Amino acid sequence: LFVDSPLAEGLSVGLDHERAHFLRHVLRLDRGDAVAVFNGRDGEWLALIDGFGKGWCSLAVRHQRLPQSGEPDLWLLFAPLKKARIDFVAEKATEMGVSRLWPVFTRRTDPNRVNLDRLRAHAVEASEQCERLTVPDLSEPVPLSRALADWPEGRTLFLCAESGAARPVAEAMRERGRGPAALLIGPEGGFEKSELDEISKLSFVVPVGLGPRILRADTAVVAALACWQSLAGD
Ligand code: SAM
Repeated sequence: LFVDSPLAEGLSVGLDHERAHFLRHVLRLDRGDAVAVFNGRDGEWLALIDGFGKGWCSLAVRHQRLPQSGEPDLWLLFAPLKKARIDFVAEKATEMGVSRLWPVFTRRTDPNRVNLDRLRAHAVEASEQCERLTVPDLSEPVPLSRALADWPEGRTLFLCAESGAARPVAEAMRERGRGPAALLIGPEGGFEKSELDEISKLSFVVPVGLGPRILRADTAVVAALACWQSLAGD
């Protein structure tokens, strides 16, 4: 269970209404029952349910079960998609170990707003489900051009594009080896040709293809991440 508070022996952690409801009515736990908790910094801890109140629950933190572990240094930049599809992206990218989720507006991006609270809730739930001890950082959406203008040195950006002379993703990833990296997936309408040309020219960008078929943007996220994982092993 993710908690947004420090974890150390003897500390007490309060849970909000939703989490209290989940423990009491979904998991059917009671006072004295044990719960594994993490906050993304202090590893996994065993906590005992101290008590339930109207819309709250408190936990008594006992001992650490696992030290903090990290994820590969892999960012996912993606053009926002409509509701269920963007939820899917947040969930699957979290399960597959992405360290940062970054919605970016491309020229053909539709919708032009992102509900970050909703994305974060999906990422938290996915972290809990897949037992990672971190939740990916969720960055404020920005125009793609702004994200690229401030790009950190040494981080390769694999630009996933279905058209043009992109190299197979596995080949390009194998050649680059390990190290900080990011994936960029375009919107449902794809990138504009001029946009692709501009991005491809940047020194840190490596255009890659994910096979001969045009994948939906959410499928492309999973395909690219699966390839990364099979090569990097994490
Ligand atoms: N119209 C479909 C949809 O509704 O999702 C297709 C969208 S596709 C144009 C969206 C993005 O997925 C592209 O901008 C690209 O980043 C990625 N993509 C899809 N197929 C790909 C492929 N074969 N190789 C590389 N990237 C691909």
